[in-house]
Amino acid sequence: MHWADVVAKELLSKQEKNLISTGITPSGFIHVGSLREAITARAVYEAMLDLKADVGFIYLVDSFDPLRKRYPFLDESYEMQVNKPLSEIPCPCGRHKSYVHHFAEPFLEAIDRLGLHPKLHWTHELYDQGVMAEATDMVIRKRQLVAQILKEVTGRDVPADFFPYSPKCSSCGKYSTGKILGYEYPFVDYLCHCGHQGKADIRKADGKMPWRLEWAAKWKIFGVTAEPFGKDHAAAGGSYDTGVRFCKEVFICDPPYPIPYEFVQLKGHGQMHKSKGVSVTGLDALAITPPPVFNYSFLRYNPDRHIDYDSGLGVLDVVDEYDKVEGYFYKGGVEERDRDLLRAYELAQPSGVRDHMPLQIPYRHLVSVVQISDSFEGVLEILKRTEKVESIEGQDLERLRQRVECVRFWLDNWAPEEVKFKVLPILPTVEISAAEVTFLRAIHSALQSVEWSGDKIHDVVYETAKASGLGAKAGFQVLYLILVNRKQGPRLGYFLSTMDRKFVLGRVEEAYLAGQHRL
Ligand SMILES: [Zn+2]
Ligand SMILES: [Zn+2]
Repeated sequence: MHWADVVAKELLSKQEKNLISTGITPSGFIHVGSLREAITARAVYEAMLDLKADVGFIYLVDSFDPLRKRYPFLDESYEMQVNKPLSEIPCPCGRHKSYVHHFAEPFLEAIDRLGLHPKLHWTHELYDQGVMAEATDMVIRKRQLVAQILKEVTGRDVPADFFPYSPKCSSCGKYSTGKILGYEYPFVDYLCHCGHQGKADIRKADGKMPWRLEWAAKWKIFGVTAEPFGKDHAAAGGSYDTGVRFCKEVFICDPPYPIPYEFVQLKGHGQMHKSKGVSVTGLDALAITPPPVFNYSFLRYNPDRHIDYDSGLGVLDVVDEYDKVEGYFYKGGVEERDRDLLRAYELAQPSGVRDHMPLQIPYRHLVSVVQISDSFEGVLEILKRTEKVESIEGQDLERLRQRVECVRFWLDNWAPEEVKFKVLPILPTVEISAAEVTFLRAIHSALQSVEWSGDKIHDVVYETAKASGLGAKAGFQVLYLILVNRKQGPRLGYFLSTMDRKFVLGRVEEAYLAGQHRL
């Protein structure tokens, strides 16, 4: 059984009504691993819906967290924003409501494309609307117990004046690191490090709980029954462990079922952006890989399995695997041990599986075709010819458009040089030997009558090169040379078939005439 179904069944056996929660702290560029969290949560949610369970799905944006430091991508003016709430810091580009909106909005749009449509909550709004007030009051009143739990679970000392609430100074706008002078519901009296003395109202966005407590408070407030989180939180003495005790002893509720997941590491060629010199972000990863394929790439593994994300050639392998599993899904033939992959495929669809198998065009072909034609219409023309389809429409057309966009983005930013090429408009200056001239003459004649398809062209080039005495490898090389001025390129038969026969014949003729001339 697929792991998402296992978790779903487990949850249903515990309680009838469930709520899956996940979220993000969007303090800057978002790591690919954050997408794993989102995808994991959605999979469990979808698996529960398939069981007709009573289940909800929420997504919390930690918008009231402080900016912890000035990150390298922020200009110097952000130095003075450190330790202010993310929701109250100006956005770096000037087009968003705040700093947190700047980073969260594109991410939320991206997960929407993955099929996540949870109910969104912004932490700064929860505080502002008083939703956090009761929990805040509880932790302040039980602060001795809170301190004791923190000490026992983490093994770290807790200061004697520990107070589980940071007022936001009404003068300097930062979370105060000064003194707490007293508490009487709903006001926390404080003396800020800046010298300002003030009152914070816990029913408003005047301050916040430390994040370990805030996390558990959200479980209590919303009634969360399951939540995925990175394995660092799951470590002994980590935030899940403190959360469990806060739930049981402070908030008097049950902690959620934990779904710890392993990290995603960036691997392989192309993990650094060529021109920007930055590593791949969650948004890049989604622009590189079509959304259902991206979902699949995570869902095929158990959450406790480590994943290497490769933005180089690995992208092609994962799409190939996805397409293969898609074939099994619609046509059968999967081996018993791979049955869970079918479920991973099913769960990976942002809006459910289709009735019929989608039109499949090998992704590696697209990588070639996209480099031959600049426009989507041009790509379509070539594909209609090479794939022998009369028309591509509806969902197939949409899928193709999405894949072409991904291929272009990948080629422009992340693809290794070896897969890139450009068909030269004129014959490049290359040395052509007598043996090559003989082969080019022979292939010129053979290509005139061969059926213009990848396989047939491949065979005829192979046979002709061998028969001419040049040898297959050298034969392929000289054809690449006269077309793209390199010794290798995309799969030759298919590559030639994407071009007009007349164009190819013209180039071959030009090449052997030029070679003859020089000999
Ligand atoms: Zn912005
Ligand atoms: Zn202050």
